[in-house]
Amino acid sequence: MSVFEELRVPPGGKFRLKDRDPAHTAGFESKKEAKDRLVQGIERLRELQERLYASDRYALLLIFQAMDAAGKDSTIEHVMSGVNPQGCQVYSFKAPSAEELDHDFLWRTNRCLPERGRIGVFNRSYYEEVLVVRVHPGILAAEKLPAELVDVGIWKQRFKDINALERYLARNGTVILKFFLHVSKEEQRRRFLARLDEPQKNWKFSVSDVKEREHWDEYMAAYEDMLEATSTERAPWYVVPADHKWFMRMAVADVIVEALEALKLEYPTVTEDKRRELDAARKMLEGEEARI
Ligand code: ATP
Ligand code: MG
Repeated sequence: MSVFEELRVPPGGKFRLKDRDPAHTAGFESKKEAKDRLVQGIERLRELQERLYASDRYALLLIFQAMDAAGKDSTIEHVMSGVNPQGCQVYSFKAPSAEELDHDFLWRTNRCLPERGRIGVFNRSYYEEVLVVRVHPGILAAEKLPAELVDVGIWKQRFKDINALERYLARNGTVILKFFLHVSKEEQRRRFLARLDEPQKNWKFSVSDVKEREHWDEYMAAYEDMLEATSTERAPWYVVPADHKWFMRMAVADVIVEALEALKLEYPTVTEDKRRELDAARKMLEGEEARI
């Protein structure tokens, strides 16, 4: 079992976000120590992804949620850096379009689910529907649901619908891992300031992100509720401390590697018929050489 199992949100219990420290490093002391492990993790992930693709049975869905500047983009970039791009699809979900708003809330993400053999990465996801939408009631109003279907119970209903979807996907061979990159409010402030200070980071700065900070406590309450209600045996949440980016990347890579290793993926075995085909092909190719 991974040393990072402690980051998992245990299914079915009470969960308190304040028990998790965004600056935790699980006893790892330096960036260097983490770097070696991350490099190994990336290499292992490359091999496992190849097996995943060759065996063509399971799909892997990785979901990333976080406050702004927690490091979703760079974590995805680093952790997936060794994986064959053909075996991996990354989707980022922003505010929904008019077309998307005309559908149920799981529609747009369902269209992007990974097929067997592939790794699908969701940079934000349907979980926004119980986060930003919960924090800003105006967004829910814009979803045009029939009024009689909207009441205070809607978040619990959405949790149930999400759990049902994930159970269904798991039963069909999709392995789901969910990461909440847990950054502290103070570290977010420092990273926003860095975006203002460094010209190459200016493009990442958005005034609306700073305004969103005013809702920090409401977001944390929504996250806490979501983590408690939707961390399940088959689709667990990991609360990954994000104040030290080196720790976050290593931990995410480790959790993914562990989960893929548990599948005991094998390359397809060659049947007798296939072996005869291969032998025949070899003879043809060798015969060609003799004629040249
Ligand atoms: P990110 O902040 O993920 O790095 P970005 O800054 O490039 O991405 P934004 O334009 O900020 O892109 O888009 C993300 C925004 O979209 C977030 O504020 C998020 O809360 C919002 N969003 C995502 N999904 C939904 C949804 N279903 N309903 C409303 N808003 C959503
Ligand atoms: Mg943003």
